[in-house]
Amino acid sequence: MVEIEKVLHMNGGDGNTSYAINSLLQRTVASMVKPILEEGIEQLYITLLPECLKMADLGCSTGFNTLSVVSDVLEIIGTKSKMLNLPPPSLQAFLNDLPGNDFNTIFRSLPSFYTKLENEKGSSFGHCFITTVAGSFYVRLFPSNSLHFVHSSYVLMWLSMVPKQLVCETQEALNKGNICIAKTSPPAVVDAYLKQFEKDFTMFLKCRAEELVPGGRMVLTILGSIKSDDPLSIWEVVGLKLNDMVLEGLIESEKLDNFNLPWFAPTSEEVKKVIEVEGSFTLHKCEVFKMDWDSYIKKANIGLERQGRAAKIATDLRAVGEPILSSQFGEEAMDDLFQRFKAVVLDHMEAEKCEHINLVISLTKKG
Ligand code: SAH
Repeated sequence: MVEIEKVLHMNGGDGNTSYAINSLLQRTVASMVKPILEEGIEQLYITLLPECLKMADLGCSTGFNTLSVVSDVLEIIGTKSKMLNLPPPSLQAFLNDLPGNDFNTIFRSLPSFYTKLENEKGSSFGHCFITTVAGSFYVRLFPSNSLHFVHSSYVLMWLSMVPKQLVCETQEALNKGNICIAKTSPPAVVDAYLKQFEKDFTMFLKCRAEELVPGGRMVLTILGSIKSDDPLSIWEVVGLKLNDMVLEGLIESEKLDNFNLPWFAPTSEEVKKVIEVEGSFTLHKCEVFKMDWDSYIKKANIGLERQGRAAKIATDLRAVGEPILSSQFGEEAMDDLFQRFKAVVLDHMEAEKCEHINLVISLTKKG
């Protein structure tokens, strides 16, 4: 399989299958996490009182969500400084993603974002300076002691690579359409993925510990699971449909056999263990909230019938998965694949009682 950093990104632009207009799930989750974000930023601000708060959003992608976290943070520090009778601090925000991300869409949206800030918030809020940083957050991205706050939402379940030992030894186990850990995965596969997650997340924490000032904070939201050997992931449905396409001769079986997603949905215990062993951060909060795969759509479109909800889930997942899936199976297979996915996704969710498990973690750098 090709290098992950080259093929992993969300669908760019603002067309029908773009991430920008198909990221309501991630937006809904971010709004649920806002109280934890508020608490973290307020405590950080009161403790460090920076003149310019420097934050990074890691895995920012493109679209509404990318800039909304920046405007949330600006609002939180603006309101708090007013309460404390202090001048509003400036905000420097670094938006990071892999080099394949559609940074152009971000650049193009900046002028209207700044105008909106000026109109809505006026002089009661500090200046805001936005910069982009392309690269993997599994290595260092910023100078030592240069950040006050790190945010990342719906990102850390993407691993830096498919576990090596899995590709060599247990390939067989991932046949039959299991493109990531599924209910039927043998323990060796689960273990290989877990080890890769532990290695990657440890590296992530080590890098951020260097970059954050002592007392700096992080709020991380991860798509997790209740049991990592039984994650009932939405990708399982994609894998089943890819397998059907193999059986019908539409996709070469070798292509499916050689494909695994660099994806691991950890449990809260697995996340906590890595934080503890790595040792640079104090964990304040680790909250878990569950939602049906279509509950965010039901909430936003009251009364939308089942087929409409399934179609929305299919476009949303396509916006996320299309670049990496089409690099393996070809762009021409994508319409068929997501049609098939749409037809069964809600039946699968109900039959298997599947839910998205959201883990929200709030941390402070020791020091
Ligand atoms: N935070 C946004 C986007 C989530 S999509 C939101 O909540 O809507 C996940 C993003 O993480 C993608 O844009 C993907 O390219 C990025 N990503 C995955 N692995 C990464 C890595 N190692 N370094 C930087 N970005 C990464």
